[in-house]
Amino acid sequence: MILIDGKATSEQIKKEIAQEVLLRKEKGLKIPHLAAIIIGNDGASMTYVNSKVKSCMQVGFNSTLIELPENTTEEQLLHEINILNLDKDIDGFIVQLPLPHHIDEQKIIMAIDPLKDVDGFHPVNVGKMTLELPTLLPATPYGIMELLERYQISTSGKNIVVIGRSHIVGRPMSILLSQKRKTGDATVILTHSRTQNLIDYTQKADIIIAALGKAEFLTGEMVKQGVVIIDVGITRIEDNSKKQGYRLAGDVHFESVSKKASYITPVPGGVGPMTIAMLLKNTLNTCLMK
Ligand code: NAD
Repeated sequence: MILIDGKATSEQIKKEIAQEVLLRKEKGLKIPHLAAIIIGNDGASMTYVNSKVKSCMQVGFNSTLIELPENTTEEQLLHEINILNLDKDIDGFIVQLPLPHHIDEQKIIMAIDPLKDVDGFHPVNVGKMTLELPTLLPATPYGIMELLERYQISTSGKNIVVIGRSHIVGRPMSILLSQKRKTGDATVILTHSRTQNLIDYTQKADIIIAALGKAEFLTGEMVKQGVVIIDVGITRIEDNSKKQGYRLAGDVHFESVSKKASYITPVPGGVGPMTIAMLLKNTLNTCLMK
């Protein structure tokens, strides 16, 4: 069994980005600038945003963090987005999700300039991705594609089961892997909460992408020998033996599944760090397009 080291791979990608930034600095070219908007003070969201800002510093990007209170109105948020859309120095920006219930998430995503949408969530970018046109790919699926490619895991003609059909992970993953591309050409089955007898699909899968958000859901008996496992799930589980009071669990029961897997991503240290690295890559790409 080979552990797919997302942390090391993401560090390598960040190193490559940092080199590119250094070259741009030497040539007097624009330095990529990523902005992030966060609303309220949800612990997990704050952690994600802070690590995005920290990663910007690591690769030499400029970064701007806009922190807004929980009671920010939709109009106020749209106003902030408009400012970032018009700011020539900002290459890309994200609005950290989830948003408070009084704000319409889709309306917010629609308001972001597609050319600055480094999360790749805008319908224009989703449409381009679906049509195999060059675009900004959503960071988590992009990171998984990169992991498969860098570990030279062949997907062509393979049976891939994606568990979860969210707009940010499962569905784009299923679209990308079914496309005619280097990491692609797979026969993909997209499963979800209404799928019956999931085990019938998972037991036949050569590769499984687990993105359903249920801790340790996929167990050893559900997979075949030699399967490749990409575990996207991140769930906080109360654990008083830890300093922070919780531990992170993936969607895969690592102990039983890793005994049968040929490749597997751990949680933490698998897909998570790749998501941030690909967000930086998207930001660099938007800057290069100028
Ligand atoms: P979501 O809640 O939006 O979607 C979950 C999907 O799982 C739904 O489509 C649902 O139909 C499906 N599902 C639920 N129960 C199921 C079952 N029993 N069998 C089959 N399908 C089932 O989740 P999401 O935003 O895609 O996130 C999924 C997980 O990935 C979460 O734990 C999230 O924290 C994590 N995540 C990690 C990263 C990362 O960078 N590593 C990024 C995004 C999300």
